[in-house]
Amino acid sequence: MVERKGIAQYLSSFFDPCFELGDDGIPEFKMFIGGQWVRSSGGTQVVDSPHDGSVVARVQNGTLDDVEKAMQWVSGEGKKIRDIPAIDRILIFQKARDLLKEHKEEIARALVLEGGKTIRSARGEVDATAQRLMLTMEEARKIYGEYIPGDWAEDTVGKMGLAIREPEGVVAAISPFNYPLYIASAKVIPALLSGNSVVAKPASDTPVSLLLFARVLQEAGIPAGSLNVLTGPGGKLGDAIVSDERVNMVTFTGSTEVGIHVNNVMGLKKRHLELGGKGIAIVLKDADLDLAARKIVEGNLSNAGQRCDAIATVLVEKEVAGQLIAKIIDNEKKWTLGNPMDTGTDMGPLINEGAAKRVESLVQDAVQKGAKLVLGGHRNGCYFEPTVLIDVPLDARIVNEETFGPVLVVITVKDVNEALEIAKKPKYGLDSCVFTNNFYSMWRVAKSLDVGEVTINDNPKHGVGYFPFGGKKLSGLGREGIGYSIDEMTHLKTIVFSLEPAGLGKRRVFQG
Ligand code: NAP
Repeated sequence: MVERKGIAQYLSSFFDPCFELGDDGIPEFKMFIGGQWVRSSGGTQVVDSPHDGSVVARVQNGTLDDVEKAMQWVSGEGKKIRDIPAIDRILIFQKARDLLKEHKEEIARALVLEGGKTIRSARGEVDATAQRLMLTMEEARKIYGEYIPGDWAEDTVGKMGLAIREPEGVVAAISPFNYPLYIASAKVIPALLSGNSVVAKPASDTPVSLLLFARVLQEAGIPAGSLNVLTGPGGKLGDAIVSDERVNMVTFTGSTEVGIHVNNVMGLKKRHLELGGKGIAIVLKDADLDLAARKIVEGNLSNAGQRCDAIATVLVEKEVAGQLIAKIIDNEKKWTLGNPMDTGTDMGPLINEGAAKRVESLVQDAVQKGAKLVLGGHRNGCYFEPTVLIDVPLDARIVNEETFGPVLVVITVKDVNEALEIAKKPKYGLDSCVFTNNFYSMWRVAKSLDVGEVTINDNPKHGVGYFPFGGKKLSGLGREGIGYSIDEMTHLKTIVFSLEPAGLGKRRVFQG
């Protein structure tokens, strides 16, 4: 009997249908097409741990033939999901929530091994996914549509309208590596709930958790073909999926560069794009500096800074800059860097060495241009230390490009006007925050920033998406969240009834 290694060592027999054990004990996961776990003719690709580089799984290296098979299911048999009564769809999700909770620890450990996030953060991600499943009842309220009396306009007197919400049809869901379970589920759950069939592709760095989630949904009773999960390189499969004419809507979360490409190749389709970010924290001189420092550091270092809503830049008024920087450094030093599987670890590695080297080059560029490195700055493999740069010149790449790593840039400004001017510069417009105790300053900053969300006296967090989130500028199009994703994944069909044949049509009395 082969000893189970990598992700397999943590999985119970519930997940047996998803994989086979290789001779070396590493699990080889299959793809989920038409309700079956299947192999690809394209061979496999390796999933390794950013912590130590060890192979933790293999997944199918999907081919264009696999895309075609998935397309036939998703646009054929899989569409039957819309005929299932909504209450039964909800019950499927409630069952899925119970199964997810039952298998929480297994999935959390898979998340740690494939993505290097800490075990605490991984457990939080499974909990958030379970909450999302629990909130489907709330979400379903968005699917009702509306009744529109016709007699408020001259040419519709004697008529009434119903605007009913219908599923888009086939939804392609492409997700990034950083929250591979939660972000994928935040697409798959509302899409299926509103009656769409789905073809999903996870990121190649972290494909396993979505496959495990598909197994949960399979057992919970989703119909065959309504959810199909393909693994393989985005450049090859992604283009084929999003440009397929059978796909009616694309929901994509990932980098701005790939998002723009996807936008260009998909053709005339509904789209929802959640792209890169450059979170800014503005700290005014009347702020509670202890609170600001603690929240800024948490907003910068959580998930090793690999969050679209991470705080990357602090713009602080000069009167309090020295005090704030000292408090930020004190807080950063409390974060322990290490093996993400240890419960005491606060921050693990970046997703791969290329990502860590990119962050290193952003720091080096800033230092070469005159920034002062006051904490960290070192890389060891995929690990990058919590890092603080001050006096950063505005032409440094790190001021304008997405960092996606544990580096905080602090820029001192003379007043709120200068802060707002600098905050306009990046091409991104996702999340930002302001720390102040003055109501008028809060309101002014909140109204002035050209972003999708402004948080006051805390760091931005999308959480379970109870509040809508999404970007402006090159951070994307559309809004994700409980109910809001449903709006994106459905369309209004208007049905107009003439009431005259029933003798109910109102007649004009005013001739003016
Ligand atoms: P990425 O490199 O853009 O990849 C995202 C997804 O797109 C992956 O599944 C990738 O597959 C796939 N892909 C690659 N090329 C494709 C193509 N030609 N057509 C279709 N799909 C393609 O992003 P990432 O590095 O995984 O994630 C980090 C980025 O996501 C950051 O920029 C972050 O800000 C952003 N993000 C945004 C939000 C938000 O809510 N706005 C949330 C989380 C993350 P492969 O992995 O196989 O290449």
